[in-house]
Amino acid sequence: TRTINLKSRPKGTPNLSDFDFTTSEVKELQKGEVLLQTTYVSVDPYLRGRMSDAKSYIEPFELNKPIVSGVIAKIIDSKSDNFSVGDFVSGVLEWKETQVAKEDSLKKVDPSKAPLSAYLGILGMTGLTAYLGLTEIGKPKEGETLVVSGAAGAVGSIVGQIGKILGLHVVGIAGSDEKVDMIKSDFGFDKGINYNTTENMTQAIAKACPNGVDVYFDNVGGEISEAVLFKINKFSRTVNCGAISVYNNTELPKSTSVQPFLIKNSSLMQGFVIFDYADKHPAGIKQLAKWLQEGKLEYTETIQEGFETIPQAFLDLFEGKNKGKMVVKL
Ligand code: NDP
Repeated sequence: TRTINLKSRPKGTPNLSDFDFTTSEVKELQKGEVLLQTTYVSVDPYLRGRMSDAKSYIEPFELNKPIVSGVIAKIIDSKSDNFSVGDFVSGVLEWKETQVAKEDSLKKVDPSKAPLSAYLGILGMTGLTAYLGLTEIGKPKEGETLVVSGAAGAVGSIVGQIGKILGLHVVGIAGSDEKVDMIKSDFGFDKGINYNTTENMTQAIAKACPNGVDVYFDNVGGEISEAVLFKINKFSRTVNCGAISVYNNTELPKSTSVQPFLIKNSSLMQGFVIFDYADKHPAGIKQLAKWLQEGKLEYTETIQEGFETIPQAFLDLFEGKNKGKMVVKL
């Protein structure tokens, strides 16, 4: 079966040459295992971290071994009592067209309740990240102002909508006018800022947030975030969810100047890792599914087609080529 391995650890921005296509044998099925045919593969910015060997909250990928990420697959053979041929499952699986997996590493997903790809986004890891990051650390209150960066992406587009459900003034930051239009007209954000065409981001934040910023949901880090933090309110909360603008940096950043703003505002800034909230995942999925069913949440996806497009789809995340969740359909 075709497999995608990590060939080299990217230096700076990853390249197609960091990936290697090989073919490998499919193992023989043992008791408690299933044979899977990959249907959808999730590509995610956090995979960049696993491609380097720096210490992190999750093990680095090994060189010349398959990359793994969120995958939806169809069961095509089963030696498991829990799964039958034809079932669809989600799991953290290898970038392979076909593979054998242990039954306890998989969760059944129901294609009659939602499109399969949704289980990688709104009803999967990125939806949970939006919901739990915002509620557990952001602690939003009705009437407050929420700013979200990476606002047109998988996590950000859901964060903003949950902010609206909870009664906040919501401002999104994204990389194009088209994305800014989308978050306002499709997802109900109150204001949007295109960071690529805005000269003075701090002024733009001040204008979009006349009452200051109470919650900042940070997906991008770097200069954009610094501009937001200059406008934070007393007892504000920042969710450090992602920092995509600096994932490819090869040098340590210069010192930042936001600390005085955090101090004088008694402002909280806390890192968030979705895997640390595993006990809250089932309730989170239930809430997201309910809002989705009630029509209170909408989502969009960018779907690439074909196994061979997986590495490029991953690279495209760093160019902002996606709207909503980026997935690859096989
Ligand atoms: P997205 O769907 O948001 O895709 C990435 C987006 O980032 C791009 O579309 C692009 O949008 C933006 N971007 C790329 N480069 C830059 C840059 N240099 N400066 C500013 N924006 C940039 O991805 P996800 O929703 O999956 O993830 C969003 C963030 O959340 C990531 O940082 C990710 O690592 C993090 N994350 C963290 C988790 C956790 O547990 N902590 C779990 C899941 C995600 P644009 O055109 O607007 O620039």
